[in-house]
Amino acid sequence: MGTLIVELGDRSYPIHIGQGLLEQAGVYFARHGMSRKSPHLIISDGNTAPLYLNRLTDSLAHSGYKVLSFIVQPGEKSKSLSVYEEVITAAIEGGLDRSSSIVALGGGVVGDLAGFAAASYMRGIRFIQIPTTILAHDSSVGGKVGINHPLAKNMIGAFHQPELVLYDVNTLLTLPPREVSAGLAEMLKHGLIWDADFARWCQEHADSLLALEPEVLEYGLEKGCAIKAKVVSQDERENGLRAILNLGHTIGHAIEAIAGYGTFLHGEAISIGMVGSAMLGVRLGADPSLVEETRSLLQSLRLPVALPRELDTDTLMGAMMHDKKFKEGSITFVVPLSIGQVEIRKDIPASLVREVVEQLKE
Ligand code: NAD
Ligand code: MG
Repeated sequence: MGTLIVELGDRSYPIHIGQGLLEQAGVYFARHGMSRKSPHLIISDGNTAPLYLNRLTDSLAHSGYKVLSFIVQPGEKSKSLSVYEEVITAAIEGGLDRSSSIVALGGGVVGDLAGFAAASYMRGIRFIQIPTTILAHDSSVGGKVGINHPLAKNMIGAFHQPELVLYDVNTLLTLPPREVSAGLAEMLKHGLIWDADFARWCQEHADSLLALEPEVLEYGLEKGCAIKAKVVSQDERENGLRAILNLGHTIGHAIEAIAGYGTFLHGEAISIGMVGSAMLGVRLGADPSLVEETRSLLQSLRLPVALPRELDTDTLMGAMMHDKKFKEGSITFVVPLSIGQVEIRKDIPASLVREVVEQLKE
């Protein structure tokens, strides 16, 4: 078991990563001085709750905590204003007060929704994350919480750091294989932006990661969280450095938007986006081997590395221009210089990006 501290001054918090943590949740609650008088509300989704909710509530009840739960439909559509309202209704009806907490048991969807409810209920109560997807190692660090507006993803949100994160790798064993690979895409991304050795470690241990071997997963998640934590502690509110976490995301978000949400999982879309970023890097002077190396790293994790031919370039470019990162005529891009090193460029001409999109279809 490992513990990592996300250093954010008086908002610092620990991420505990290990096996069997769900069953020890009550112990961790006590250690963090959670109130035994006030109720705590667990938010989970329809896939995760039947698998893990009982274990969590049993552990908390055993330690003397009052717990309520609210289950939402699985999937991105639960990050909506209407589901948010339902969560707040559950919190009011359940009598949550300022000493209560909201607990997210699930992937990034539940984490973002529950976190935003915690950030806004009575102007902010404590938030606890119990991530059950690999992708959620990304969302468990950094404090961004929020929901979608029908017109734009993640448009309504806040920064709200959790009190603690309990990452029980045993819960990952039930993830569908595509979700496993998609989550590993973000793990590898942390290597690609910061640490070449870690990127190569991901490839060397790809089979063990895909097979969800606990010790290997623990190391990978800890390392991925640690890199993100380092970036976030230097730039909590995304004034500069934090943008490097968006490697592959400009193209990736556009792919997600135009292919129809759900066709590509987020991790799959950013995998293709990261290959595109490498192509852009080479056009801007990086060693040509960067593209092949990036592809090979991603393919070892069974991720897609090319765009389907039928995706229309104009539509994709249009979607990129709507991205928040598009400002004053040029596109901001995270461009790799080599494996493990990136720079933020604010001056990337759309024509160059168009060439890369075409190249991604080959
Ligand atoms: P998700 O929460 O939808 O989970 C993926 C699927 O796996 C869902 O169907 C879910 O029901 C199921 N699932 C979850 N845990 C399971 C388990 N242990 N066993 C079996 N099935 C399980 O998606 P995600 O990929 O975890 O997260 C994506 C969301 O995270 C997006 O909304 C994205 O915007 C958000 N996100 C937020 C941040 C942040 O910094 N806040 C960072 C990255 C992503
Ligand atoms: Mg992402």
